[in-house]
Amino acid sequence: MTRGFVHSPSPTRVVFGAGTVAAVAEEVRRVGGSRVLLLARPRHAERVAAALGELVVAQFDGARMHTPVEVTAQALDVLKSAAADCVVAVGGGSTTGLAKALAARTGVPQVILPTTYAGSEVTPVLGETENGRKTTRRSPDVLPETVIYDVDLTLGLPVPTTVTSGINALAHAVEALYSPEANPQVDAVALQAIRSITHALPLVAANPSDVDARAELLESAWLAGTCLSVSMGLHHRLCHLLGGQFDLPHAETHTVMLPQVMAYMEKEAPAALARVAEVLDVPDAAAAVFDLVVSLGGPTSLRELGLTESSLDGIEPATVLRAAWEGRRPEGAPELSALTAQVIGSFDETPDPRLKRLLTDLVRHLHHFAVHNDLTEEEWLFAIDFLTRTGQISDDKRKEFVLLSDTLGVSSIVDALTNSRSPLTTPSAVLGPFYVEGPPAMEHGADISGGLDGEPLWVSTAITDVDGTPVPGAVVDVWQSNKDGFYDVQLPDLDGPVLRARFVADDQGRLEFWTILPKEYPVPEDGPVGQMLGGTNRHPYRAPHVHFMIMAPGHHKLVTQLFVKGGRYLDSDTVFGVKDGLIVDFPVAEGAPPAGREVTGGWRRLDYTFRIGR
Ligand code: NAD
Repeated sequence: MTRGFVHSPSPTRVVFGAGTVAAVAEEVRRVGGSRVLLLARPRHAERVAAALGELVVAQFDGARMHTPVEVTAQALDVLKSAAADCVVAVGGGSTTGLAKALAARTGVPQVILPTTYAGSEVTPVLGETENGRKTTRRSPDVLPETVIYDVDLTLGLPVPTTVTSGINALAHAVEALYSPEANPQVDAVALQAIRSITHALPLVAANPSDVDARAELLESAWLAGTCLSVSMGLHHRLCHLLGGQFDLPHAETHTVMLPQVMAYMEKEAPAALARVAEVLDVPDAAAAVFDLVVSLGGPTSLRELGLTESSLDGIEPATVLRAAWEGRRPEGAPELSALTAQVIGSFDETPDPRLKRLLTDLVRHLHHFAVHNDLTEEEWLFAIDFLTRTGQISDDKRKEFVLLSDTLGVSSIVDALTNSRSPLTTPSAVLGPFYVEGPPAMEHGADISGGLDGEPLWVSTAITDVDGTPVPGAVVDVWQSNKDGFYDVQLPDLDGPVLRARFVADDQGRLEFWTILPKEYPVPEDGPVGQMLGGTNRHPYRAPHVHFMIMAPGHHKLVTQLFVKGGRYLDSDTVFGVKDGLIVDFPVAEGAPPAGREVTGGWRRLDYTFRIGR
């Protein structure tokens, strides 16, 4: 059937980038503003006020979720008494909503700087609450004139809010696909938004200060917001109703409801949901979104948002609301799900809830992997043999499973999930397969190279708290490869541990030692991992680095690596361990070598301060 549609492109000007807040004064003048009412929470107000300079004549920071009309009335008073002729709003959907409410009442032009992924800044929709009822109006009059997306403003958005706000954006895109007003342009934008949101969200959750992932998420939030040019469906209706009636947090409600409504829509709009599943490369889109939320630690039930079950009485469709209240996982693809359900059911009595969850999810993913790839028996037996050989070649020195985990990037994912949560501490990096427990204790100034050949390197480091306070007595394990890229455990002729040591930081939290410049090296290639690398045309090299493990009472253990700037394979490290923040200068040194060392030829130094968190 031919579908008809009307498309009316949005007139909103969009400025996107990092540091774009600097353009705000120019953008205000472009819309004819000279007296600005700044709507902002203190968190962002100073930065934007500074960029606006004398243009600011008044500020208001009382924006609230769901745009209560009484708050709008207060802001309107401020706008009028300051004779403001332009509104600049910096914040999430709540602040944007207030700007739109002011524009709806006065026609004042708006410049919006979003700090969440709600998308309201590019929609002609305004939801307002009066006496516990949320009403929505749709009018081009509330569309902001200019939106400035500055990815820097989003870097501090906490992970839980990032997750729920990102799922809020996802909901716009999903619902656009089955809107009666859907059109091919919105379809394309929605699918791209779904692809990028689900790609970027886990990256941001793992590393909130990952600017590239933040930028991808912000771009896709913009795309998702533009999808609201078509009318939304059941999901948005239910979220508005619940939000207005029970004052539920907006983005959290979206996060709980989306997978449940998607499961319901699988029957109502199967083609649209099949397109989502195709983009996500999963058999069942609703279950996949539910699993994504779980994996990101987001809320899955209305119960945990504080709603009582009976308050949902009378709201339809009751099946959706009930599943959402309980936080039930939507059931996956029908084929084979009986077997999957049976296996998962076999874990019902597992006393440890975490073990139950991990096993359940592992089975679910393994079954999906087998089905999705039409796995043959021969392939599966090969996989089992591969893992068997990985075990057989391993011992207390040869750690092939660690290497497998490293070369498949799993170690880096787990590392990012466990550590590196704060931008204030030194980034962590994978442990790798060559750490040996209990390295030899050494004195400051010692040479850990055991006389091995190589370019001498003087390492001088300090261990501090995140605020720069030294951490005396920190225990620091160091290990590295020799000039040919081998660790001592790989060199059978070596007697005892070499190029590995344990130091204790002095009263100033410092330690110093001699070693040799590390070089790039191949991971062992004579086992199953080597076979995997060879079979996929991957090189086996690690970028040159020194490992550090830092332990101090009351502090989180830091396991990390420092990479030699300018070294080889920094951008294709075979274990995916390199982080930009860990690439440091190991410069050629000038002057007399420290600690009474005599050096023929040149030497290098590494000066570095590790910041560890509590
Ligand atoms: P929000 O604006 O209330 O922000 C959530 C919380 O995060 C607030 O406490 C806020 O101060 C804080 N915050 C925002 N940015 C931050 C940052 N960068 N760093 C640290 N903290 C930050 O919530 P929201 O989810 O962005 O927006 C929800 C509101 O937007 C609701 O009222 C909803 O109805 C509306 N909305 C409207 C539309 C529309 O098209 N009209 C679309 C989406 C949302």
